[in-house]
Amino acid sequence: MKAAQIRQQFLDFFESKKHTIVPSAPMVVKDDPTLMFTNAGMNQFKDIFLDLAPIKHTRVADSQKCLRVSGKHNDLEEVGVDTYHHTMFEMLGNWSFGDYFKKEAIAWAWELLVDVYGLPEERLYATIFEGNQEVPRDTEAFDFWKQYLPEDRIINGNAKDNFWEMGETGPCGPCSEIHIDLRDDDEREKVNGRDLVNQDHPLVIEIWNLVFIQFNRKSGGVLEKLPKTHVDTGMGFERLCMALQGKKSNYDTDVFQPIIQRIAQLSNKEYGKDEQTDIAIRVVADHIRTVAFSIAEGQLPSNNKAGYVIRRILRRAIRYAYTFLGMKEPFIYELVSVLDETLGGHFEEIGKQKTLIEQVVKEEENAFLRTLSNGLKLMDDVIQKAKNKDSKIIEGDVAFKLYDTYGFPLDLIDLIAREQGFTVDNEGFNVALEKQRAGSRTAISETDEWTFVRENQAQEFIGYDYSESKIELVKYRTVT
Ligand code: ATP
Ligand code: MG
Ligand code: MG
Ligand code: MG
Repeated sequence: MKAAQIRQQFLDFFESKKHTIVPSAPMVVKDDPTLMFTNAGMNQFKDIFLDLAPIKHTRVADSQKCLRVSGKHNDLEEVGVDTYHHTMFEMLGNWSFGDYFKKEAIAWAWELLVDVYGLPEERLYATIFEGNQEVPRDTEAFDFWKQYLPEDRIINGNAKDNFWEMGETGPCGPCSEIHIDLRDDDEREKVNGRDLVNQDHPLVIEIWNLVFIQFNRKSGGVLEKLPKTHVDTGMGFERLCMALQGKKSNYDTDVFQPIIQRIAQLSNKEYGKDEQTDIAIRVVADHIRTVAFSIAEGQLPSNNKAGYVIRRILRRAIRYAYTFLGMKEPFIYELVSVLDETLGGHFEEIGKQKTLIEQVVKEEENAFLRTLSNGLKLMDDVIQKAKNKDSKIIEGDVAFKLYDTYGFPLDLIDLIAREQGFTVDNEGFNVALEKQRAGSRTAISETDEWTFVRENQAQEFIGYDYSESKIELVKYRTVT
C-alpha cells in the first residue's frame, strides 16, 4: 500500500467514526512565545484542553506536520543515525474533546491497525501507566487492552513514557503506547520481545501514543480530576508506512525512497552499501523536508530564532553531504521537486512555493559552501594541534571564529568535534560572542536578522532574508 493511501485510510477510518477531518496546522508556530514549532498533533488544540477555547467539533482527526528539533522534544541527534526519528514528520491523530474515552480510543486503534491495515496482531504490544504515589496504575486501560492482547503483551511503563503532561501545570493523564516488533521471526525467538519495548531496539518501536487526559495539574503541583475527559492520540505516519510496507527503516518506504534515490544519483553513491554514506544520505533526505516545509510556510533561514533553527538544519545537511558524499556544489535544492512528487498530493504548499524554496535553498548552499571548506580546514588544523598537545578541547575563540567568520552553527561545530572525540568550550564561545555583540550592537541594531557568513574576513555579508509582508529575497549590504 502506498503512503498516500495509508494516510487517506487513517482519515477515512476516523471520518467513519464521526470525526471531522481538519487540515494540519502550520509547522512553524507564529503566535506562541512558548513554542517555535509544532511538535505534536495536540498543539493546535491546546486551548481546548486548557478550557480557553470553545469545542467546535467533539471528534477531530488529521495529519499534522511536526518538527522535533528544539525544546522538550529534540530528536536531531538521532536523525539519520537511526532509521525512525525524523526532524519533520507527520503525526496522524484523532481527538475526543469531552466525548469518547479509553474504551473507544483503544478499540478503534486496534480495529484500524489489525482489521483495516492488517498488521499482524502477534507483533503488537501495548504499554500502560504503572502508577505512582499520585495516580494509580491504569487498570482501566489494562482491562480494555485485555480484550485484544494477551496479558504478557500489555506492559507497565513509568511516568516518563506513560504519563503525559502538557507543562508544569495544566491538563495531563496516563497514556498507552502501541509498539510493534518488526524483527525477523528467527531473531524474535531468541529474545523475548517483551523486554525490548521502549528500549531502543531499532525494530521494536513505538508507533502510536494514546493519551487519556483526565487530570488538571494546578499550580503547586496538586492534581484534580477534570470534569470532562479527552483523548489525544498521535501516530508516526512514516513508522506506520514502514510497518505496512514490510520495511525495516522509514527511509525504505515510498515516503523517502524517491528522495534517497535522487541523492544517490546526484552524488554518484549507492544507498545501502556503507553506513557512513547511508547516514549522510538519510540526513539530507530528512533535512530537506524540514527546510522545504518551513520555507513554504514563509519561515526562511535567517540568523534569528526559528529562522536560525532552519538555517542550522540546512547547514548540517550541507556539511554531511560535503564531507561524506563529496558534494562540493549546491544540489540539495534539486530535491524539492522530488519532495513535491512524494508529498504534494496531500501538502500543496510545496508545489505552490517550489520556485522560492529552490531559490532559497540554492542560495543558502552557495553561501555556506563558500566558507565551509576553509572552516573545515581550520578545524582540522586545530584538532591536529590539540592532539599533539594531548588536548581534546576546541577552544572557545576558535569555535567563535568558525561561527563568526565561516558561518558554522555551534551545534555543527560540536558535531564535528564529537566525531573526533573532542568537546567544545561553550563557555569560552559565549564570552567571545558577547564581546563581539557588545562591540557591534550599534552597527547592527537596525537589522535584527542578518547574516554572519563572511567570505574570509571580507566585509560583505552574503545572505538574504525576508520581510514578513511579502516573501522575497533581500541581499544585505556591507555592515562595518
Ligand atoms: P519515541 O519514544 O520513539 O521517541 P515519543 O514517545 O517521543 O516517540 P510521542 O511524543 O508519543 O513520541 O509521539 C507520538 C508518535 O509520533 C510516536 O508514537 C511515534 O510514532 C511518532 N514520533 C515521535 N517522534 C518522532 C520522530 N522524531 N520522527 C518520526 N516519528 C516520531
Ligand atoms: Mg521521543
Ligand atoms: Mg516514547
Ligand atoms: Mg510516546
